[in-house]
Amino acid sequence: MTATLIDGKPVSQQVRAEVRDEIEAWVAGGGRRPGLATVLVGEDPASAVYVRNKQKACAEVGIEGFAHDLPADSTQEQVVELLAQLNADDRVSGILLQLPTPPHIDGSHLTTLIDPAKDVDGLTPVSAGLLAKGLPGLRPCTPAGVIGLLKRYDVTLQGAEAVIVGRSDLVGKPVAALLLAENATVTTCHSRTRDLDAVCRRADVLIAAVGRPEMVKGSWVKPGATVIDVGINRTDAGLVGDVEFASAAEVAGKITPVPGGVGPMTIAMLLGNTLAAAKAQAGVSVA
Ligand code: NAP
Repeated sequence: MTATLIDGKPVSQQVRAEVRDEIEAWVAGGGRRPGLATVLVGEDPASAVYVRNKQKACAEVGIEGFAHDLPADSTQEQVVELLAQLNADDRVSGILLQLPTPPHIDGSHLTTLIDPAKDVDGLTPVSAGLLAKGLPGLRPCTPAGVIGLLKRYDVTLQGAEAVIVGRSDLVGKPVAALLLAENATVTTCHSRTRDLDAVCRRADVLIAAVGRPEMVKGSWVKPGATVIDVGINRTDAGLVGDVEFASAAEVAGKITPVPGGVGPMTIAMLLGNTLAAAKAQAGVSVA
């Protein structure tokens, strides 16, 4: 392997330590302790682990946790009612509705009911609009984590050719908007993109957010490019990303591993967003 490894673990630990220190200072200065409410509907084991990890991370940095684990047979109305209560609760600075929800619950509609001031996942239409307009707001955690990694590893974004494979509301679109805000020249690819490998080879910064194990090959990577693999795919061979790591690491200049790259950054950004939301609710604006 010739590429430098972009290691998300120390970077995320550093972000967490910064958030913990900021919370301590905020509370010592009379600020209300930030609180994060998680809403989990059903018993999907992966979702339950994600939510537990988020609550644990909150406790470690001094964010008060409010875990709402609802049974799988909860009705849409019950979740709507809970979100309304959390929107009105001053102790709750941020609300996280764990997706996906069970099939009879419309998770995408429920997301729109979260008070944008408490939208620490950055997924409401208001947050998406603020991002698209380049206005201050709460940014989606995984995309913010991608930018955080690129910055901490001094990757030049201004004027860079950035190619994103994937256009989801959760990852691809917000990553594109954030890179545009950093003055990169951005191309967003998807399942209908022609000559995907050739488009990827143009990239100085290549972001894979596809959900297909090892789809992006080393031969798709421009020599020296930075490769960020957002993918998390559970296969018989274990956890793999959307990039074929072994071949890509021979060509790239910098590359994230899976696991241990983007993944750890997501929770760190959630903690940062919860603090930012608490401050904004107290009238302290955060850029
Ligand atoms: P998604 O909603 O399924 O979106 C996948 C995107 O990839 C879509 O835009 C789709 O195009 C595109 N795509 C699918 N097949 C393609 C192909 N053959 N060629 C080109 N584009 C193709 O997935 P997501 O939610 O964005 O997640 C992407 C990956 O990131 C997943 O592995 C997920 O587990 C992972 N993830 C990781 C984190 C983290 O914390 N690290 C957080 C979120 C997600 P169309 O729009 O045309 O269908």
